[in-house]
Amino acid sequence: MKVIVVGSSHGGYEAVRQLLLDHPEAEIQWYEKGDFVSFLSCGMQLYLEGTVKDVNNVRYATAEGMRAQGVHVFVQQEITSIDPKAHEVTVVDHGGDQNRTEHYDKLILSAGAVPAQIPVPGKDLENIYAMRGRDWAIKLKAKTVDPNVKNVVVIGSGYIGIEAAEVFAEAGMHVTIVELLPRLLSIYLDEEFTSILTKTMAEHGIFAATGQSLKAFEGKDGKVQKVITDQGEYAADLVIETAGIKPNTRWLRETLDLDQRGHIKVDDYFQTSAPDVFAVGDAVMAKFQATGTQAPIALATVARRQGRFAAMNIEKPVHKFPGVLGSSALSVFDYKFASTGIKQGTADNYGVTVKSVFVTDTKRPAFVPAAENPEVYFKLTYEPATRRVMGAQIMSKGDVTANINAISVAIQAEMTIDDLAYADFFFQPGFDRPWNIMNIAAQKAIRTEMN
Ligand SMILES: Cc1cc2nc3c(=O)[nH]c(=O)nc-3n(C[C@H](O)[C@H](O)[C@H](O)COP(=O)(O)OP(=O)(O)OC[C@H]3O[C@@H](n4cnc5c(N)ncnc54)[C@H](O)[C@@H]3O)c2cc1C
Repeated sequence: MKVIVVGSSHGGYEAVRQLLLDHPEAEIQWYEKGDFVSFLSCGMQLYLEGTVKDVNNVRYATAEGMRAQGVHVFVQQEITSIDPKAHEVTVVDHGGDQNRTEHYDKLILSAGAVPAQIPVPGKDLENIYAMRGRDWAIKLKAKTVDPNVKNVVVIGSGYIGIEAAEVFAEAGMHVTIVELLPRLLSIYLDEEFTSILTKTMAEHGIFAATGQSLKAFEGKDGKVQKVITDQGEYAADLVIETAGIKPNTRWLRETLDLDQRGHIKVDDYFQTSAPDVFAVGDAVMAKFQATGTQAPIALATVARRQGRFAAMNIEKPVHKFPGVLGSSALSVFDYKFASTGIKQGTADNYGVTVKSVFVTDTKRPAFVPAAENPEVYFKLTYEPATRRVMGAQIMSKGDVTANINAISVAIQAEMTIDDLAYADFFFQPGFDRPWNIMNIAAQKAIRTEMN
């Protein structure tokens, strides 16, 4: 069996790993159009802030390492078209050799997504950057130490925008975040959390220009100088656009069934509309377990799970993908937070009726000195009709983010607030309290439902 895998990031890497395990006899060809294999944008903040010194270390694998395992790795070689009938792809060699066609028995696509650019006047000015991939990482790193950069404007306040804002604020620059929605991070956290984070960011020199629509970029001598919104103007020596992504699927329009937003349509086994062609990662939607519906959840965790399932189903569709919950975590200055499933603020998007309870507590018993006993904020979301746990958010200056993994499992196991209220969690004063905050929230939810 000859398998071609396209894309060397999370989805492609995981697919190759699984193929090596399950089909050591297969001929695996792995294609990357860039000049670097397996760069991890997830590690970009660690590189930009200096924790990881060498950009080339922000990766899972090297071409040499994978070749040593028998994988045929092709760098700077782009797959530009697919002929599903002939089971052939066109390979364009950016390294200079002649272009060619390659036959495949099976094809796995993990071509990912590209940053979306808002089509406003001035969008082509210099110093308007994106934040994805190794090339942008190197360019952004140079700006963190550029004395000409005093004012940075970040467009968009998802995780990537917040990471960018923190990096440049820590580098001593004045940062403005322009966000269309009324709150920062509103897809990830409800207001109880974002109000605290917005205040913390303001204390670190980050101004939140929320509820504002980007109108134009203005510049001088070809370089950006100003960001104009419907409500204000912001000085900008550097703009970082992080207002979403779009699936990298233009080249597949004529070949595969795509949805309206350009995601490749796949079934529960990652089979596309073409026989023997599979697709995973940011270029496809993911089954959202809380509702069973499809959602665009662009996370490495999702791409890796999908990559593995595509490889496991390569011969026949036997392993149905269970879905994901969009579990994710981030730190912003002193705070660490995580969330999973449905939030009160996103319930309408999923068409579900939910209720939430919010609780605060100290991480450890009251006798533990405050310096080692940070406040914990926790919100549990459930469906009143079924009492099923649907989501949760947590935040603290201590690291309590692992609780969100427990809630993710609770949602997957279709647990109710009644199950969670008395679920057995450990207690040791060095770590937590006799009633874990997840128990307390579920107990509060039960009382709420009694009234
Ligand atoms: C700054 C940043 C931080 C992030 N942090 C996290 C995090 O902490 N946790 C998390 O879970 N997720 C995080 N993500 C999201 C995560 O990086 C993506 O979900 C993940 O990279 C998607 O993987 P993918 O395999 O679908 O594609 P991509 O990562 O988009 O990679 C696609 C690869 O395919 C190559 N390619 C594309 N087309 C072709 C072609 N035709 N021929 C050959 N090669 C091709 C591209 O050059 C690229 O290398 C972050 C993303 C960014 C940008």
